[in-house]
Amino acid sequence: MERTLIGDLKSKAGERVLVQGSVSVRRDQGKMVFFDLRDRSGMAQGVVLPSEDLAMVVAKELRPEFVVAMEATVTERPPKNVNPDVQNGDLELHIHAIEILSKAEIPFELGSEVNLDTHLDHLPFTLRSEKSKNIFKIQATIAEAFREAMRGEGFVEFQSPSLVGGDAEGGAAAFKVDYYYDQKAFLATSPQLYKQMMAGVFERVFTVCKIFRGEKHATTRHLSEAVCMDFEMAFIKDHHDVMDMLEHTIKHIVAKVIEEHGDVLQKMGVEAPLIPAKFPVLKLREAQKILGVSESEPDLEPEHERALWEWAKKEHDSDFVFVTHFPISKRPFYTYEDEEDRGYTKYFDLLFRGLEINSGGQRVHDYTELVERIKQKGLDPSKFAFYLETFKVGMPPHGGCSTGLERMTARMLNLPNVKEATLFPRDLNRIDTLLSTDEKK
Ligand code: ATP
Ligand code: MG
Repeated sequence: MERTLIGDLKSKAGERVLVQGSVSVRRDQGKMVFFDLRDRSGMAQGVVLPSEDLAMVVAKELRPEFVVAMEATVTERPPKNVNPDVQNGDLELHIHAIEILSKAEIPFELGSEVNLDTHLDHLPFTLRSEKSKNIFKIQATIAEAFREAMRGEGFVEFQSPSLVGGDAEGGAAAFKVDYYYDQKAFLATSPQLYKQMMAGVFERVFTVCKIFRGEKHATTRHLSEAVCMDFEMAFIKDHHDVMDMLEHTIKHIVAKVIEEHGDVLQKMGVEAPLIPAKFPVLKLREAQKILGVSESEPDLEPEHERALWEWAKKEHDSDFVFVTHFPISKRPFYTYEDEEDRGYTKYFDLLFRGLEINSGGQRVHDYTELVERIKQKGLDPSKFAFYLETFKVGMPPHGGCSTGLERMTARMLNLPNVKEATLFPRDLNRIDTLLSTDEKK
């Protein structure tokens, strides 16, 4: 018999079907055994009646998460037993035969509230919970919507290398890797330099790729391995062109998540993000004035980012706010200085519900200036010869930005820790269970 999905049972009332899935709960009532059966399309209640001798023997063995195949008749429930609030609440599977495909031994009940470390130590199991499945289905939609928005604007997707020859940006701590012939390579902290090279090829490019950062601090927003959604575009006037493109992309992502998962957001108690006609924009110094902090600070602290969210909500009905013009001294060598505001960059951060989810801006495209800027940072231009060829062979004005997929997901769903929005988080204290259990040194 062909498998019938649980989501299609309604159309098979009265028929005998084969269903396959996992047992969620078993309830013994008198001489009958009830249980919930779940597959990728949903959940249905099954019952083994006392007359089904053979099925009853197997039914008594069933425990939560056993994987089974069952032959059953799809039966309408008597009106008094109908539950309109659940999927298939008006029908029931009358089981005739059960085959156990896999037994299961579970650490705790699926979906039970456990602390984050226990959740992470048991990811092969806990990722199967309704909540986790919803988070990562929505994350898949976010990445898909990003690609969709980019392709719609003529951007070409490219694959960025993860093994690189140097810690190019000289900022974020890079992981060292043993390479051939006693050489050291690094894991890429960003696709930045390759993105610029590719903008020289296609004008408009994007990538969804892994970045690796040796973040030696445990926070709720940093991972050692993260996914970034990056784009780079040529022939821009300035950073505003990049901000406009990013805003368009974010609006497309939010609309698609609401369209495809609006019911789940509601179930999770998550409000749709507040999106104004235009995201508010503040220069860093304006933001600092609003916050009452010194204008000599080169960056925003996490509590400042949260306070700016309050400001954006109150003043602009927005969960998003751009902060621009960070001091040039604290930004990478390729950031473009504002000719009309010397010492400050045509660079921005985008904050979503009080957290930086994106950084970007206009890049230096003049070869001579770029070499000069590399020197000013105390770096050796000869180490950047490969990258610098991009500019030697002619490069249009360009810019781009990078959105963290996990941070975007976490803010969209109001998850307090970015690790809850990461399938298999790596951080200072864990790779799966390495470092998190007894193996910790
Ligand atoms: P932060 O200042 O919060 O440490 P950053 O400015 O170093 O972040 P960028 O280099 O601007 O990060 O990276 C672009 C985006 O990639 C960030 O806005 C963020 O969404 C994401 N991102 C960067 N590093 C991490 C990380 N370690 N863990 C999770 N996401 C990250
Ligand atoms: Mg940043």
